[in-house]
Amino acid sequence: MKILVGNWKMNTTPEEGISLLEKISNLLTNEVVGDVRVVVAPPSLHLIPSVEKLWENPEIAVAAQNCHHKDSGAFTGEISPEMLLNSEVDAVILGHSERREYFKETDDLVALKVKAALKHHLIPIVCVGEKLEQRKSGTFLNDTWTQLKIALSDLSPEGLADVVVAYEPVWAIGTGEVASPDQAQEMHAFLRGKLKETFGTGELPILYGGSCKPSNADDIFAQPDVDGGLIGGASLNADDFLLLVEKLRKS
Ligand code: PEP
Repeated sequence: MKILVGNWKMNTTPEEGISLLEKISNLLTNEVVGDVRVVVAPPSLHLIPSVEKLWENPEIAVAAQNCHHKDSGAFTGEISPEMLLNSEVDAVILGHSERREYFKETDDLVALKVKAALKHHLIPIVCVGEKLEQRKSGTFLNDTWTQLKIALSDLSPEGLADVVVAYEPVWAIGTGEVASPDQAQEMHAFLRGKLKETFGTGELPILYGGSCKPSNADDIFAQPDVDGGLIGGASLNADDFLLLVEKLRKS
């Protein structure tokens, strides 16, 4: 399954967000999208208008960028998976490295969120990836697998079947420094092998994320174990996002 996710992060006013979505929606016709599943993850405030805007274009799904693991309660500032489901949101990005770094999210918390998302029929897009020092010290493969193993612990085979994984080397996110196609392939194949060994299936989609843009996407999408991309900066430009969808479709 080929999947392209646009993570807008904390960008766009509501007006700018809807205008960007309108451009994306006009460009991404059924023909352009083909067999690629396209997902946009706008800021939380834009989720409901985005869902409503996309009633006109069923080719594009909507994801939140985060959620709490409880259904409701005294958690000021948080959004629950139940609220997302009731707002017709389809998926949620969990464990993004920015959440881990700036909001101190741990592997165990990410695991709770993954379970909560699945309980509410949201597709969890689970982000893992090593920091620069882990790459340099050579522990990056096992360190990234440990993150993923914890995030997916105790899932049923049915739950696992709905999970999307995103490998995002922290040193490549928003830095302009992209992993080489070989580096991406090495990690994706390693994670797939470990998933198979541990959970009995390696069939989960594994997306690459980290400064992926039209100029470097061809070689990355061509790797056999890369099933698509989680795109930050380049997803804020409708023409670049369109090019990425086309490149993934043709890969
Ligand atoms: C991301 O936010 O997940 C990401 C990959 O960002 P960028 O493409 O800007 O590096």
